[in-house]
Amino acid sequence: MGYEKSIKAFEEAYRVIPGGVDSPVRAFSSVGGTPPFIERGESAYLYDIDGNRYIDYVQSWGPLIFGHCDSDIESAVMAAVKRGLSFGAPTTVETELAEEIVSLFDAIDKIRFVSSGTEAVMSALRLARGYTGRDDIVKFTGCYHGHSDSLLVQAGSGAVTFGSPSSPGVPADLTKHTLLAQYNNIESVEKCFAESEKGVACVIIEPIAGNMGLVPADEAFLEALRVLCDRNGALLIFDEVMSGFRASLTGAQGISSVKPDMVTMGKVIGGGMPVGAFGARAEIMAHLSPEGPVYQAGTLSGNPVAMAAGLASVSKLKRNPAIYATLGDRAEKLMRGFESAAEDAGIPLVTNVRGSMFGFFFSDKPVKNFEEALENDSEMFARFHKGMLDHGIYLACSAYETGFISTEISDALIDETIEAARSVMKAIAAA
Ligand SMILES: *Cc1c(COP(=O)(O)O)cnc(C)c1O
Repeated sequence: MGYEKSIKAFEEAYRVIPGGVDSPVRAFSSVGGTPPFIERGESAYLYDIDGNRYIDYVQSWGPLIFGHCDSDIESAVMAAVKRGLSFGAPTTVETELAEEIVSLFDAIDKIRFVSSGTEAVMSALRLARGYTGRDDIVKFTGCYHGHSDSLLVQAGSGAVTFGSPSSPGVPADLTKHTLLAQYNNIESVEKCFAESEKGVACVIIEPIAGNMGLVPADEAFLEALRVLCDRNGALLIFDEVMSGFRASLTGAQGISSVKPDMVTMGKVIGGGMPVGAFGARAEIMAHLSPEGPVYQAGTLSGNPVAMAAGLASVSKLKRNPAIYATLGDRAEKLMRGFESAAEDAGIPLVTNVRGSMFGFFFSDKPVKNFEEALENDSEMFARFHKGMLDHGIYLACSAYETGFISTEISDALIDETIEAARSVMKAIAAA
C-alpha cells in the first residue's frame, strides 16, 4: 500500500495545524508513521486519499454504529439541513431525542444536550457540585472524561490521592479538588472519601472503561461504589459517552444492575454529528439553569442537524434491539480469532468484549486497571497496528483505545480481519 499523498498532506497540515491534527491521538504518535488522510467512508470501509481501502474498526472513535453513510441518518440530516442549520431557539426534535433516551434509562428523568462529551461531563460535574454543595470529586486513573481542566489530572507525588495537573496550562488550584482512585479497587475509593476534608460531591467512572483499552468494571466493584456514594451523600456518575448505545441498548446499565445518579453520553447519540448530553433524575436536573441556579449554556446546543442525526441513529437502534446480539457475536468471533492467531504465533494476548466494543492487550495476564494496562507490550502493538493497516484493516492507533463493530462489518469481513491478524502476528513472531 502506498501512502505518498497522505505523507504530503500530513506535511502540509503540519505547517498550519499543531501536529497536523485537530485531536492528538489522530497523529499516530504512539504507533509511528503517517496517519492516512481520509477521503470518504462507505458502509464498513474508509478510503484514503491514496486510494487505499480499509475495514474501519474505529468508526470515528465510536459514534458510527451503522457504519459510514447510513441512508436513514443521511436522509434525516439532509432534510434538517434544508430547514436551516441552527436557530438558537427550541425545536421539537430535541424533545423527541430526549424522550427516546429518557424512556430507556431508569436513572434519567431529564436530559440536556450539549455539543461534545467533554462539555457533557464538565457540565455534569458542575451540576453535581452545585447540587451537593461540595467541591471534591473522585476520578479513576485511566478513565478519560474529556479535556476539561479539573479532569486533566495524574497521580500526585507520594501517597496523596489529590491529583496534580497532567497538562501544562491547568492550574494546580483546579485539580486539587480531584481525588484519584484505582479502577476496580474499592479500598482506593474509600481512601479518597477519608481524605476529602469537606466531602465528595461525586464519583465519576466509565462503568465500562474504553480509554485505557477496554477494561470493564467488576459488578461487585460497582455495587460497592454505589453503597459508598450513598453512605457519604455523594452522587455516582456513569460516563457513558462511549459505552452508551454501544455496550448494549442501555449501555453499561443493560449489563450491570447498579443505577447511577447521573449519566453522561455522546458519540452514538449524535449519529456522527457533534453531540453530548447529561441526564439525571428530575430532582437533580431541577438545579440546572433556568430551572435552578447552576449555570450551563450553549449557542449550538441541541442544534437541529445534530439532533436529527442523533434521533435517526437512536430510534433505529431502539427499533432493532437485536442488533446488539449480532454485534456482540461478531466482536467475540473477532477476539477469539485474534487469540487463536496469537497463540499459534506464540504471542501473549488477552481480550475483552462488551457488546459492540472490543479490546486486546499484548499481555499474558488479565488487565483490571490502568496500572496493569501499562504493562502491555506497546511496541508489539505498534508493529501489529502497522501490519494490519498495510493489510487494509484500520484499528485505533494506540494500545489504550477500544475497537468497535458496526452493523456493516459482516461475518465475512471479520474472517478477512482474522486472516490478516494471523499473517501479521506470524510475521511479527518471525522477525
Ligand atoms: C470520548 C469520550 C469523552 C469526550 O468526548 P468528546 O466528544 O471527545 O469531548 C468523554 N468521556 C468518555 C468516556 C469518552 O469516551
